[in-house]
Order: sequence, then C-alpha cells, then structure tokens
Amino acid sequence: METPPILQILNKTGAMLKGDHFVYSSGKHGDVYINKNDLFAFTRACCAAGKLLAERFSKTDVDTVAGPAMCGVLPAQWTAFHLSNQQDKEVYGIFAERDSEAAFVFKRGYDKFISGKNVLIVDDIANSGGTLKKFIQVVKAAGGNVVAAAVLVNRNPKNVTADFLGAAFHSLADLEFPAYDAADCPLCRQGVAVNTTVGHGKEFVDKRELQSAMKHG
Ligand SMILES: [Zn+2]
Repeated sequence: METPPILQILNKTGAMLKGDHFVYSSGKHGDVYINKNDLFAFTRACCAAGKLLAERFSKTDVDTVAGPAMCGVLPAQWTAFHLSNQQDKEVYGIFAERDSEAAFVFKRGYDKFISGKNVLIVDDIANSGGTLKKFIQVVKAAGGNVVAAAVLVNRNPKNVTADFLGAAFHSLADLEFPAYDAADCPLCRQGVAVNTTVGHGKEFVDKRELQSAMKHG
C-alpha cells in the first residue's frame, strides 16, 4: 500500500517517530509517536498538509475554517489559505481557545466568523476524539453550520467516526497501532528505556523512580 501523502510529509519533517518506547497523553505505552510540534516548525510542510485538506473540500461551500488552539490553529489556517486560493474568495481561518480544561471559547471577536457561516473544523490529530467532539458543539452553540470536521491523522479510526462526532468526518490518514497499559507493556517488560524527550515519558520515569525509592527506602 502506498504511504498516504500526509504520512510522507510527517516522515520528511521527522515528526513520525518509530521503534522507540513512548508514553502517550492517555498514559498508555507504544512504539510509534507523532511529534506534531516538529511538523509545525516546518512551514512548507504545514502548508502542504493544509493543501491536502483543502483539496478534500474543494467542492464544499466553506466560509470559515476553525481549529481548537493550540494544535488546530496552524492546520486550520493553512487549510483556509488554500481554500481561499482554490475558490477565489475569502475563506476565514480562525481558532477558539481553551477557557478551562473542559471548554473552548471564541475570543477576539472571532464568533462573528462562526455565526450563520458554513464552518469546516480542522484539527491535527484525533486520539480519543474528545477535543473534536467538544469543539463541534462549541461551533454549533455559536450559531455555526458545521459542514464537516477533518484531521491530518486519525489515530483511533474504530472509535473516532462521523457517528461518534455527530458531524461528517474526514482524515487524511488512519493510523492505528497498539497502545498498552503500563502494566501490560511488552517494552517495559523487555526493559526498553522510555523516551523522555517527547510525550509523557519523563513524568512516567520520574514517578516510577519515586515509587521505587519509596519501596526501597
Ligand atoms: Zn512501556
């Protein structure tokens, strides 16, 4: 099978990490990690990713592309840029900020680009899909007509679906690979060192060392 273009982009920027021992934000462990922060530093790669999304929606009537801050900001902006060029009109690119851990809010007067508009929602990577689902509700509550939600990569294609989100849904690539609870992690069992540079490996290792010190102290 040919590698989807978005994964080629991630590979090229070095954002796609494999063959190591990672701790994800869910607390689970696995050997593949997408370091999206490394994608955002490469403007041409970000631009190309936005173009791929814009091509998917070239026949859709979109007024505004909206993303959740922080990681949806740049993909939403680049998608809006390419839609504007393709359709030769101004397609707005905006974002909502976290008000608290639980909620997003449109500040800066950006709600005027949502109310009564056809809104395409863009985020970088879907894991649990929880952020995307919340964000769709925020856009609807602000009076936006959600035409679709889209991500660069869906890490959880079995669960993150149009049904789950309550909106049409597209991903440029579905990428499923095993994630283990720490207690069942084969990499831990084999004594493979945890990557403490990306993801939540450092917290995991610090905690493990503290627990071990308490047990032996
Ligand atoms: Zn592990």
